[in-house]
Amino acid sequence: MWNQKHKNVKVISFDVDGTLIDRSFVDTFWEIEIPKLYAKKYNLDFNEAWKMVKKCYDEVGDHDVRWYLPKYWFDRFNFVENPEKILWKLKDKVKVYPDAEKVLKELYGKYTLIVTSNASWEFLNIGLEKIKDYFSKIYSCTSDFGEVRKTPSVYLRICNDLKVKPNEIVHVGDHYEFDYLVPRSVGIEAYLIDRKGKFNPRKDVLKTLEDLLKYL
Ligand SMILES: [Mg+2]
Repeated sequence: MWNQKHKNVKVISFDVDGTLIDRSFVDTFWEIEIPKLYAKKYNLDFNEAWKMVKKCYDEVGDHDVRWYLPKYWFDRFNFVENPEKILWKLKDKVKVYPDAEKVLKELYGKYTLIVTSNASWEFLNIGLEKIKDYFSKIYSCTSDFGEVRKTPSVYLRICNDLKVKPNEIVHVGDHYEFDYLVPRSVGIEAYLIDRKGKFNPRKDVLKTLEDLLKYL
């Protein structure tokens, strides 16, 4: 049955970080640029600054929407710099995975392609700059829905917005819970992209995005 063509699929939804682009852009911003600014502002060396920044990240925690928002951290640390300007300076760090580009090219025009990410718009604008034209819609949980995660309601709101049923969407991403279990729980066919080979091979775990083409 896995090789059957899913004739009712209309929309393919992609996660961003770890799925379409590698994490170095995002990680550089949080783990290098912010501590660098902190070190400059408070006259510390980089390691001391990173320790302080990390402590603050951990206090807020990733269940809190503020954790995801560059503007919150710039205000909190009293940085005068503009977060978006800092992000644009990192745009050379954005690496689109080669298999992602191939698959987008292949699927474009055959399906409605969308992005479902928990990154905020500041990141998506830059991270997706080179490939944004493939997508009809780009959804950010944090910026558009005020949710920190891809909850069942995020997926259902997307279906609603696109006027499709859950079984007309295929989603692919690299987070076992938020890109796989959650969409499946609302009836969306979801695939896990496992570039590092952490999961046991099975048909809904993809080694490369090109494997997705076999199931459409
Ligand atoms: Mg991801």
